[in-house]
Amino acid sequence: MDCLFCSIIKGDIPSTKVYEDETVYAFKDINPMAPVHVLIVPKKHLSSINDVTQENSGVIAHIYEVAAKLAKELGISESGYRVVSNCGADAGQTVFHLHFHLLGGKKLNVTMC
Ligand code: 5GP
Ligand code: ZN
Repeated sequence: MDCLFCSIIKGDIPSTKVYEDETVYAFKDINPMAPVHVLIVPKKHLSSINDVTQENSGVIAHIYEVAAKLAKELGISESGYRVVSNCGADAGQTVFHLHFHLLGGKKLNVTMC
């Protein structure tokens, strides 16, 4: 399967790694929307939130654990940050490998939609 983020996880496409463990990979977004803009992705390919089930949802909790850890390390845990996952066309999802944007380091736009 041809998937950009699977290729990044494998190292076939370069990325700026921020964190890695057995189940997740985190790297800097190539087009940052904020001073801190990290993408946290499960290593196992899931296309979007639509693929989350009772069997695999543990990785989502782990991703939030990693988001909290990275927010602390990157110095935004007290100033504030946002974790976002776009699902499908109306949300503007462009890469169909489930990912969570960790955004912070500035006053973020408050609009939710
Ligand atoms: P989405 O729009 O699907 O929620 O987010 C996809 C994100 O992936 C975008 O913020 C985009 O800048 C980022 N992105 C797309 N291609 C690459 C790439 O090759 N490397 C990195 N590091 N980020 C990418
Ligand atoms: Zn993938």
